Amino acid sequence: MERCRAKSKRSREQCKNYAIKGWGVCRMHGAGGGPRTWEGYIACKKGPSKHGFYSKEAREELRDLQNSISQSNARINKDFNTDSTLK
Ligand SMILES: [Zn+2]
Repeated sequence: MERCRAKSKRSREQCKNYAIKGWGVCRMHGAGGGPRTWEGYIACKKGPSKHGFYSKEAREELRDLQNSISQSNARINKDFNTDSTLK
């Protein structure tokens, strides 16, 4: 397994952790992470578009995802309120 490329600023020793495949650095030094925004999620799913903008299709999918999430959240809240009502 590949070692993390990162070096400690203090000790100047190379990081001893194993690198995440494809990143060259360990989890502590920025590998993985994952998308933090819906735009990032879509970008990961679709891959980067050549012109640097998200495709129309990706935008529509993003909107659908946001809609379905807000709907399911509303449903969960409704169910929770119903279930928690003491009779
Ligand atoms: Zn590291």
